[in-house]
Amino acid sequence: MTERTSLSACRRIVIKIGSALLVDRASGLRKAWLEAMCADIAGLAARGVEVLVVSSGAIAMGRAVLGIGAGALKLEESQAAAAVGQIALARAWSEGLSRHDIVAGQILLTLGDTEERRRYLNARATIGQLLKMKAVPVINENDTVATTEIRYGDNDRLAARVATMVGADMLVLLSDIDGLFTAPPHLDPKAEFLPFIPAITPEIEAMAGGAASELSRGGMRTKIDAGKIATAAGCAMIIASGKVDHPLRAIMDGARHSRFAPSPEPVKGWKTWIAGKLLPAGRLVIDEGAERALLTGKSLLPAGVQSIEGEFSRGDTVAVISHDGREIARGLSGYDAQEARLITGKKSADIEGILGYAGRAAMVHRDDMVMTAGGRSREKANA
Ligand code: GLU
Repeated sequence: MTERTSLSACRRIVIKIGSALLVDRASGLRKAWLEAMCADIAGLAARGVEVLVVSSGAIAMGRAVLGIGAGALKLEESQAAAAVGQIALARAWSEGLSRHDIVAGQILLTLGDTEERRRYLNARATIGQLLKMKAVPVINENDTVATTEIRYGDNDRLAARVATMVGADMLVLLSDIDGLFTAPPHLDPKAEFLPFIPAITPEIEAMAGGAASELSRGGMRTKIDAGKIATAAGCAMIIASGKVDHPLRAIMDGARHSRFAPSPEPVKGWKTWIAGKLLPAGRLVIDEGAERALLTGKSLLPAGVQSIEGEFSRGDTVAVISHDGREIARGLSGYDAQEARLITGKKSADIEGILGYAGRAAMVHRDDMVMTAGGRSREKANA
């Protein structure tokens, strides 16, 4: 059974395009495909849909231009390949869209541009201005300066972060996979295709395989992670194959795809930024009483914290972990790690005596906290 999804009914769409769709290892840019894609984008734009493109392919294109064969690249080699490839990629998009009288604007982001609040707001303002000017933002990770430790590495999560940053209502991930199966279809003949995913439950996560690894980069794992970021902020997501020409038209005509419903109670504004942060600087392990309090919308008090892991400063993102190891929330710490350790397990009234000054009553205030499992329904009241 095929289901049609009307992309033209969306207000603002982010389309993520995988490298293999745009770039052929031997012959370089897949021009005909790009032209068809630009026609699809123009079709949506003509119907009043704002489109943003997250385009991979800088490294692949750079390899093609420089004639670098298969095999792993060292960091500085892939950075150099990206520098060469990104120029060609941007030019291809700019030319392809200009045939439809659409102006393209290039945005290159690093992880810091979305993790740090001021830079996040700055990037959001620039992208917002481009949309106001009816230009199509063409976005990629700035691979030329991204280091191994501090980078997205995959454009699935980057695209989800961009989608939530600009308040998109749809994220489309185009790659060589046409959707989510109950198990990897090439390994399990009984794997079933899932056309609609109402919520990303632990079972759904398990279908994507284990924790992200080098092998699963850009695979189903990062797509499900992208889905968690997008749907929590109220953005629907589609995983569809981009192997056909006119993939967006194909989705609208009923080509098979998986659709993830947005959360019925999305986080808003400031909390969208907290919820999508990728790198918590530390972990606060809490007791059962504190977990219950958090689920009813309360702040996290030092008394309910059992232990502190990692080094962080006040205002850094920390993950809140249940006593049995589940991540239940993310939030901004009210204390440096060193101070937090001193007041762990202590009553708020004792903080002044321990630290020598009247600190905050909460270790993580509820206004700076987003439930990441089990407590989403409480978010709205506090947002
Ligand atoms: N940013 C990378 C590139 O443009 C691609 C990352 C990905 O494949 O998800 O080459």
